[in-house]
Amino acid sequence: METKIARGARVAIVTGGTRGIGLGISKELLGRGYKVAVCSRDPKEVASGVKVLRRLGRGASARVFGVLCDVSVAEDWAKMVREVVCKWGRIDVLVNNAGILVQKPLMDTTWEDMEKVLHVNLLGAFLGMKACVPHMRDGSAIVNVASVAGLKAFAALSAYCSAKFALVGLTKVAALDLAAKGIRVNVVCPGLIDTPMVADIMKNKAAREGFLSMIPLRCAGVPEDIGAMVGFLADGKASGYCTGGVYVVDGGMTV
Ligand code: NAD
Repeated sequence: METKIARGARVAIVTGGTRGIGLGISKELLGRGYKVAVCSRDPKEVASGVKVLRRLGRGASARVFGVLCDVSVAEDWAKMVREVVCKWGRIDVLVNNAGILVQKPLMDTTWEDMEKVLHVNLLGAFLGMKACVPHMRDGSAIVNVASVAGLKAFAALSAYCSAKFALVGLTKVAALDLAAKGIRVNVVCPGLIDTPMVADIMKNKAAREGFLSMIPLRCAGVPEDIGAMVGFLADGKASGYCTGGVYVVDGGMTV
């Protein structure tokens, strides 16, 4: 069923928009005047993320909607999209940001590890596009969040690299398939960004310095760095001729 498009501010869905990079993306979109639905599968995280976002000012509190959704479950997507469309009447931007990391050498990685990571990081984005696109019109945008681990191999990240390489490929195919509908699809590949996902690396001096030695700018990025790139890719005036693109934000790590 196609949605009848309502007037008003543009509407974005940001998966995992309640902490880390997703929170940075949600702040950026709220700052740009969007209505933003953020989701996570953890109710406490949804509550805390929404609280932070509502305090941003400039009318943000009325433009934030927290939803419980496991992105690897099609029924959760159907429910979230129904709720967002009932509340705000449209979907203009989908940011598939939710992700998980399993770090293990190949021979210790189990079938379950592989399945879990692929379900969230790859199939979550696939399900998101399937659920949202019927409600998106010409001029809408999808931004997937992959990683430098979707462009380059890192030891002990077999499941994560598999999912992120595939997400880059899926983005490019989606860009081709959705171009006729006027929907642009791009992928952002962050490098090391200081969030709860990499807290162990940031806390451990040897691990942190090992990573920093690979980064020409010699520092980790912050969620706002990714927010700014997603804001650009969501904005059809700024990036209207960009689709199927891979946007690396990594302090030069992959140069
Ligand atoms: P994070 O762990 O801080 O946040 C991940 C978010 O995804 C959380 O809100 C979590 O609740 C949500 N999430 C996880 N599984 C979910 C599920 N099944 N359903 C719904 N929500 C779910 O991680 P982050 O660093 O903010 O990462 C965000 C994205 O950026 C991920 O896709 C990650 O792979 C990618 N990334 C992160 C880094 C980094 O250095 N932090 C680097 C490259 C790519």
